[in-house]
Amino acid sequence: MTATLASGSLFQALSRRFPGDTAQPFLITPTRTWSYGDLITASAKTAHALKSLGIRPGDRVAVQVEKSAQALMLFFGVNRLGAVYLPLNTAYTTAEVSYFLGDAEPALVVVDPARAEAIAAVAGQARVLTLDAQGQGSLWDAVAAADDAPFDMPCNGDDLAAILYTSGTTGRSKGAMLSHRNLASNAATLVDYWRFTSSDVLLHALPIFHTHGLFVATNIIAMAGASMIFLPKFDIGEIMRALPKATTMMGVPTFYSRLLAHPDFSRAAVAHMRLLISGSAPLSAEVHKEFTARTGHKILERYGMTETNMNTSNPYDGERIPGSVGLPLPGISVRVADPQSGRVLGVGEIGVVEIKGPNVFMGYWRQPEKTAAEFRADGHFISGDLGYFDDKGYLYLVGRGKDLIISGGFNVYPAEIEAALDALPEIRESAVIGLPHQDFGEAVTAVVVAKGVINETKIQHTLGETLAKFKVPKRVLVLDELPRNAMGKIQKNVLRERYKDLYV
Ligand code: AMP
Repeated sequence: MTATLASGSLFQALSRRFPGDTAQPFLITPTRTWSYGDLITASAKTAHALKSLGIRPGDRVAVQVEKSAQALMLFFGVNRLGAVYLPLNTAYTTAEVSYFLGDAEPALVVVDPARAEAIAAVAGQARVLTLDAQGQGSLWDAVAAADDAPFDMPCNGDDLAAILYTSGTTGRSKGAMLSHRNLASNAATLVDYWRFTSSDVLLHALPIFHTHGLFVATNIIAMAGASMIFLPKFDIGEIMRALPKATTMMGVPTFYSRLLAHPDFSRAAVAHMRLLISGSAPLSAEVHKEFTARTGHKILERYGMTETNMNTSNPYDGERIPGSVGLPLPGISVRVADPQSGRVLGVGEIGVVEIKGPNVFMGYWRQPEKTAAEFRADGHFISGDLGYFDDKGYLYLVGRGKDLIISGGFNVYPAEIEAALDALPEIRESAVIGLPHQDFGEAVTAVVVAKGVINETKIQHTLGETLAKFKVPKRVLVLDELPRNAMGKIQKNVLRERYKDLYV
């Protein structure tokens, strides 16, 4: 496979494996099915339309639109033209979008019609076209009128294919530059590792402005010549209705906990499926085990990030360990190192996770210093995630470096305390943060969602039976739900801000 990825665009790498029968469905949306033939034609028309609008290879095309089949065709059209796709979270405000447009200087911005005027005011030299949730608007009018002849600009695998801004919970977010080869190589690895074939039907309910829904899900399906049931969002009723038609699903952990909470969810609902995958945020060992007990399925958890695509995965055939993100993927070096010295650490030692491979991004857009600071001299990317390997080579994440708590001079890794809390019968889920404290520097603090009666003293006492005293939360706060971003990640920065004066 590697030889075929050496040159050309992502789309060319995918299309080499498209099914011989172009009538095979690619996307099954609530209103229409798009075959592989439709994908080939619509992406060519989109590339022609963009070219006619003056967009050239290397130009950035910023896209802030609702999820639709046409939005995906836009991604592939941009790719075939050799332009650079820049998806933006639909939740970003005009002020936030203004920053991204100023930084990336796109030639074209595609937005929902409702936002066109506001975005045009901050778009500078860029043209602004529209695409609504039904896939209609001035962009699609231009596509409809365009030539449908095959269209593929000559392109090198190392050319820039996409810029994805990192979620940036501290400071300004950075644009991660991904090449065609970064994307194609990871798709090829995952198709094989997870055994995707043209018989697969993936249930797709993720957003398509993020690496998970856009690259992991979409590129794998296209490269396997498989089909996707393409839902606008995660609506539990729609998911329950679609499950019988799917062979596999990729989700964030909240998909699985919401399924477990649904009264009609049973073993039968997923008995026919071959694979359920989770990522983008930690899947609690409790949810993993409960899902297995209820359905017999062992959710396959994997680990990746915007900058690197996917790095590790629990195995398809071997042991899937709750709480672990699995083994390094083939062709990808994953190691744990001392954050300061960079010395590679041994089994069980906690350090920063570092990654090298064809999946790892080209650097941060127009930020050579930041890029240099996040790579070791031998090319490993310093991920910022803390973790350790066990003696079987499985990786465990213990939290982001910035979420590490230092209390009374001791390191406290939030994941360890969260696992202990989640195992208690009265707790549904938890987030452990450090808050400013005069004596300890930071005080370990738990924020929990209850499923029983919470008695703070009792919880502290129970945890104290297995955890060192400095790890036991000084306070256990109860919320109805934890703040999460669009990918289901708990926003610890929001919690830290909310409770910053708790002890001072
Ligand atoms: P993003 O760039 O938005 O995809 O976020 C990447 C980050 O999500 C990683 O650096 C991890 O901190 C986290 N992440 C992704 N997958 C997992 C996982 N399976 N378990 C725990 N954290 C994860």
